[in-house]
Amino acid sequence: MRYFPLFVDLKDRRAVVVGSGEEALRKVRLLLKTDVAIDIIAPELGGELADLRDAGRIAWKAKRFAARHLDDAAVVYVADKDLEEVVSSEARKRNLPVNVVDRAELSSFIQPSIVDRDPVVVAIGTEGAAPVLGQGLRARIDAMLPATLGRLAATAESLRERIAGTVAPGFARRDFWQKYFFGSIRDSFLAGDKSAYARELEAALAGVTSPPAGRVSLVGAGPGDPELLTLKAQRKLIEADVIVYDRLVGPAVLEMARRDAIRIPVGKTPYEPSPKQGEINRILIAEAKAGRRVVRLKGGDPYIFGRGGEEQAALEAAGISVDVVPGITAALGCAASIGLPLTQRGQNTSITLLTATSERGLAEQNWTALAQPGQAFAVYMGVNMAGDIAAKLLDAGIDPACPVTLVENGTLENERSFVTTIGDLWETVASKGIYGPAMIYVGLAKAKASADIVSFPVRAPSEPEALRAVS
Ligand code: SAH
Repeated sequence: MRYFPLFVDLKDRRAVVVGSGEEALRKVRLLLKTDVAIDIIAPELGGELADLRDAGRIAWKAKRFAARHLDDAAVVYVADKDLEEVVSSEARKRNLPVNVVDRAELSSFIQPSIVDRDPVVVAIGTEGAAPVLGQGLRARIDAMLPATLGRLAATAESLRERIAGTVAPGFARRDFWQKYFFGSIRDSFLAGDKSAYARELEAALAGVTSPPAGRVSLVGAGPGDPELLTLKAQRKLIEADVIVYDRLVGPAVLEMARRDAIRIPVGKTPYEPSPKQGEINRILIAEAKAGRRVVRLKGGDPYIFGRGGEEQAALEAAGISVDVVPGITAALGCAASIGLPLTQRGQNTSITLLTATSERGLAEQNWTALAQPGQAFAVYMGVNMAGDIAAKLLDAGIDPACPVTLVENGTLENERSFVTTIGDLWETVASKGIYGPAMIYVGLAKAKASADIVSFPVRAPSEPEALRAVS
């Protein structure tokens, strides 16, 4: 290791940045994360740097560099091509840490990539050997660390005195912090579950050795493409002990989970014996009661035709903490995948999400209202019901030429999409052999040339009310 990592205290200190271009701005943005006083030395100041100066966040010390500007600086950055050598040598004479952008040989330190969850900061360096690798690692670590991790650490800091007074030093105290940062207290904190957090914290402080409290996260896996997972869903998958997943959750999404997590498939396959909802609830409750972190992974979004609400209620009734991570629902994911806007000026002012299937067959819908001109709706679980849907809508007077777009296996490698009409819907489903999970969009087709779209006149900006009142 040639470069030794250090964290430097910049409180009540001064940093000097020479230059005012894009690179100088980048260094200033980094420094603004601290309380350091920032002096800029540059012939001119424009854009964001000028705004920061006006806001009093930085000071424009001088137009021309002079060695005395470095007096009692804590750190020096050089982002001015003409001044690299001279500032570097002046700084070195004074033993000041200096960084010259892209000139390691003129620098006494290099700037690591950082993941900032203040006060938790991860710094990554490759000694200049592999900057792209460093950036990639930074992005991965960033995705792993929850946004609220810093708040957890700051909260721990505020508890420190109380813990010192209540928990004996040594093993007991380490054990407490272990639970705090890596156990259920942390899970409740990160889930924003204040009451569970307080309960678990008090129990841990009272030394109650209750069995570890598990929790269940209802997590939306999106429509299939693993890149459509949210950062939170990805983190939950990395942390889970047990993953209870549906048939619609693809292998590529499960790949994101920890290797040694237990995976329990509970997919309901149409026309085949599959676990009943009660059985799924029982599994979730048992796993959570055993103290495990359970992810209940559902296709799309857990609250949209996913029975997320029922599982949540069953878990809450059993006294299990639940949190919900939303996912991209199929209607949104499939539309984006084929470039189909779900609202368009001049075409539709609302979009309805509905299911075609209920426990007793065709779901009840207000077909008369849906058949009105200008209606747009996205139908879930509609492939097997395509004929019935078309018949109901045609009976209710829909225009048989009303456009319909179908997307099968949306966002996955085997995605197929078709454009048809209500009149030909059933024929299309049958002749194209659409079996799949598919979205049926009624009343929606891709926009034609933009001249066909009704455009609204742009209003001239009007004076603010207050100004008009006084004049
Ligand atoms: N909770 C899920 C919906 C579950 S219902 C969500 O929010 O997306 C199952 C229905 O979702 C399927 O019958 C189909 O209509 C739709 N669906 C789910 N994944 C899909 C995909 N990749 N492509 C097309 N439709 C999909």
